[in-house]
Amino acid sequence: MIHRIMRSVVCALALLAALQAHAQQYPAKVITIIVPFAAGGPSDTIARLTAQTMGTALKATMIVENVPGAGGTIGAARLTQAKPDGYTLFIHHIGHATAPALYRKLSYDAMRDFDPVGLINDGAMTFVARKDFPAKDLKELLAYVAANKDKVNMANAGVGSASHLCGMLFMSAIKTDLTTIPYKGTGPAMNDLLGGQVDFMCDQTTNTTSHIKAGKVKVYGVTTAKRIGSMPEVPTMSEAGLPNFTVTVWHALYAPKGTPKAIVDQLSKALQEALKDPTLKQRFADLGSEPVAQDRATPEALRVQLKSEIDKWGPIIKAAGVFAD
Ligand code: ASP
Repeated sequence: MIHRIMRSVVCALALLAALQAHAQQYPAKVITIIVPFAAGGPSDTIARLTAQTMGTALKATMIVENVPGAGGTIGAARLTQAKPDGYTLFIHHIGHATAPALYRKLSYDAMRDFDPVGLINDGAMTFVARKDFPAKDLKELLAYVAANKDKVNMANAGVGSASHLCGMLFMSAIKTDLTTIPYKGTGPAMNDLLGGQVDFMCDQTTNTTSHIKAGKVKVYGVTTAKRIGSMPEVPTMSEAGLPNFTVTVWHALYAPKGTPKAIVDQLSKALQEALKDPTLKQRFADLGSEPVAQDRATPEALRVQLKSEIDKWGPIIKAAGVFAD
C-alpha cells in the first residue's frame, strides 16, 4: 500500500516538474503578432516597435503578421481561431471597442473572446490634406467643405478604424455627410493622399508626422486636448475652430482566450519592460505617441479600459446611426 502511494506521489511530482519545465520554457519559438491593418500604417508601426523591444525582454523573436480588412475585424476574428499557447498575439486599437457597436454581426465578442495583456500607447491624430488642397487653415477648410461638399472626399481605414471614427465625429461636428474612401489601412490611404488622389483624412501622428515635417501634406490640427511635443506649432482642433473635438487612439496587446495565466503574466511583464525602454520611448515621442504608464500595461487595466470604451462609444455610434454589415 505504502509502496503504491509512494509511486503515485513520485509520478505526481514528476508531472509537476515536467509542467513547470514546460512553463519555464516559454517562449521556445517565434511569437507572431497579428495586426489587423495594412503594413506601413500606424498600428503596424506601433506593433513593430513594441515587438522588437518586447522580444528583447522575452529573449524571443516576435514578428508581425498583417491581417487587414473590415476595419480590423478580420484580424480580430483570426486571433480567436488561434491556439491559446502564447505564440499568436494581437495588437489592436480603440477600434476593438467601437466594432461591437458598428458591426451588426461579429463572429466574436470583443471582451469575452480575448485575454487582455496590457495597454501600449495613447496617440494623437492629425487632420491632414493633400499638399495642394485649397485651404490654409481649418477655418478655410470648413468653408471650402461647406461650399464643395459633393466634390471633396475623405480617406479612412474602413468602418471601425480610428480614421473612420475621427471622420465620423468630424462629419457630425460639421453636420455634413461627405464621400469617404475606405482602405485596408492608412498606410495605403496615405500613399493616395501623397499622390493627390484623395483630399483629406484624420490619421494618427505615427503615420503623418514625417510627411507633415517634409511638407508633403498640409496639417490643420491635432485631436488631443493639448498641443503635442513633437509638433508644438500645430494647433489643437479646438484652437483651430472645432471646439471640443478630441480623439485619442490607444493600442493594446491581447492573447487568445484561454492562454495560461503564467504566459499572460510573462507577456505583460515583458510589455512593461519594453515600454520603459528609452529608445522605444523616444521613437514613440518622435511620432507624437506616448507609452502608457506601467500600471496600465496590465491585463486588469486593459480589461477596465476596454469595457469603459465599449460603454462610452456604443451610445455615440448608435446615435450617429452608423453601421457596417
Ligand atoms: N490603425 C489603422 C492602420 O494602421 C489606421 C486607422 O485605424 O485609422 O492603418
